[in-house]
Amino acid sequence: MSSIFSKIISEELPCYKIAEDDSFLAFLDINPLVEGHVLVIPKQEIDYLFDIDDSLLKDMVIFSKKVAKRIQKAIPCKRIGLSVIGLEVPHAHIHLVPMQSMKDMNFSNAKLALSSSQLEVIQSKINSVSE
Ligand code: 5GP
Repeated sequence: MSSIFSKIISEELPCYKIAEDDSFLAFLDINPLVEGHVLVIPKQEIDYLFDIDDSLLKDMVIFSKKVAKRIQKAIPCKRIGLSVIGLEVPHAHIHLVPMQSMKDMNFSNAKLALSSSQLEVIQSKINSVSE
């Protein structure tokens, strides 16, 4: 199903890109729970994460692991939490959220409204970390 994330993949819409390969894209969540909240999406248009083919899903977790390690080096946190919600955007995605405590993974929390310059700073912090 086409969604706003398809437009990000096709670069019709911009994003704060963190990582990309032939199959996946990682970029900052525009309304993050905390600074460094990243979304990982497959380039294939598919709504529900658990409908993804086994092989692609395995690769998506490995891709997410590499991104998570970079976030953890760039953003002060105890761990990177991983969550699958998908109630807003009908394109499969994994949320990677830097956590100081379990409360940071509460998707009912108010989202941060960050300026583009704040998002750019976070992007460059994460992108300054190589694998
Ligand atoms: P979910 O579908 O998992 O409930 O939430 C979708 C997530 O995508 C939300 O955290 C929301 O802030 C994020 N999001 C929605 N639209 C955009 C967008 O256009 N760009 C970016 N970077 N994130 C978005």
